[in-house]
Amino acid sequence: MHERGASVRELIAENEALRRQLASLLDQAESNHAIMMRHQAFDLELVGAANFPELVGTIFRLLPVVSDLDIVTLALVDTGADIYTVMHKLGVDFEAFPNLLFYESVEELGYDLEAGMPPKPRLGLYHPVAQRMAFPQPPAGLASVAQVPLLRNKRLIGSLNLGSRDPGRFTPILGTDFVEHMGSIIAICLENVISNEMLKYIGLTDALTGVYNRRYIDRRLLEEIARARRQAYRLSCMYIDVDYFKQVNDTYGHQAGDDVLREVAARIKAELRMSDALGRFGGEEFVVLLIDADLDSACMVAQRIRAGIADQPFLLADGQGLAVSVSIGVATLGVATLGDVAREHPTEGVAQQLLAQADQALYAAKGAGRNRVVAAE
Ligand code: GH3
Ligand code: MG
Ligand code: MG
Repeated sequence: MHERGASVRELIAENEALRRQLASLLDQAESNHAIMMRHQAFDLELVGAANFPELVGTIFRLLPVVSDLDIVTLALVDTGADIYTVMHKLGVDFEAFPNLLFYESVEELGYDLEAGMPPKPRLGLYHPVAQRMAFPQPPAGLASVAQVPLLRNKRLIGSLNLGSRDPGRFTPILGTDFVEHMGSIIAICLENVISNEMLKYIGLTDALTGVYNRRYIDRRLLEEIARARRQAYRLSCMYIDVDYFKQVNDTYGHQAGDDVLREVAARIKAELRMSDALGRFGGEEFVVLLIDADLDSACMVAQRIRAGIADQPFLLADGQGLAVSVSIGVATLGVATLGDVAREHPTEGVAQQLLAQADQALYAAKGAGRNRVVAAE
C-alpha cells in the first residue's frame, strides 16, 4: 500500500514533468511558426515593392521587427555613382534612409575576397574598426553582427548588414542557410527595382543634357493641366530657343555645340524651382513647365534665365569664351480654360494650345531681334 502510494506519486510527478515539457515544446513550435509566418509575410512585402524607395523602405522598416534586430544597414556597390545619381534624379529622398550606403567598389564592403568568390556570410562579434564600413553609425551596445553578401549571378552587388545588442545573436557556429535565403531574395528584388528605375530614367530623360525629354514633358503637361483645373492654380509654359545656334556648330564644331547645350540646360535649371519641369524638345529647344505661376511671375523667371545665359560668356573646352543668348516665349493657361465652361475642352487640346501660344511668342521674340522674352497675349 505504502509502496503503491509512492509509485503513484512518482507517476503523477513524471506526468506533470512531461506535460510541462510538452507545453514548452508546443510554445516553441508556436513561436517558430509565428517567426516563419512573419518572415513569409516579409518576403511577400519585398517581392511586392513597386520601386526602389518602397523596397528599401520595407527592408529598413520591417526587418528589424521581423528578425528582432537593433540595426539593419544596406550597402550597395555603385561604381561611378550611377545608381545614386539616377535615384536622386527620380526624386528618391536619401535622408529618409540613413542606413542606405553606397560604395564605389566591392572591396569596401568588407568581405575577404581573397578567400574566393562568392564570399560567405560573416557572423560573429562586432568589431568597430573592421566593420566601420558596414555600420558607420552603430547603435550603442552593438555586440554581434551578420554581414550577408548580396549576390546576383555570382556578382557581389552589395551587403545586407544585421546587428544586435545580444552578443549571442550571431555566432560563427550558427547556420547561415537562413540569412543566405534572405540575402538572395533581397538581392533579386534590389536588382529588379534598380533596373526598372534605370529604364524609367532612360525613357524620360535626354541623354545629352540629363534634363527630361519631350515624351516626359508631353505627359507631365497633361497631368499638370488636369491638376491645375482641379485645384485652380496657374500653370505657365516657356519655350526657349538658343539664338544663332547653327553658327556655334559651324564655327566651333558639333562637340562645342553639345557642350553649349549642356551649359544652357544647367543655367535654365539654376533659375527654376523644384516643382518646375525642364525638358529638351529636340535640337536647341527647351520647354519649361512652371507650376503655380501666373504670366507675370513666369516672365520674371524667363528674364532671369535670359540674363543668366547672356550676361556670362560660356567657356569652351579650349578655354575661349563664347557669347550665347536665348529667346523665350511665355504663355499661361488662361483663366477661361480653368473655369467650368472649359471642363469640356479635352486636356490634349488645351496642352497643344498652350505650347503653340508659347511657340508663337518665341517666334515673335526672334522677330523682335532675339535675346529677349515675349509673353503670349
Ligand atoms: P535662331 O536664332 O533663328 O534660332 O537660329 P538657329 O541657328 O539657332 O536656328 P536653327 O533652327 O536654324 O538651328 C538649330 C541648329 O541646332 C541646327 C542643328 O545643327 C543644331 N542642332 C540640333 N540638335 C543638335 C544637337 O543635339 N547638338 C548640336 N551640337 N547641335 C544640334
Ligand atoms: Mg530651333
Ligand atoms: Mg535656334
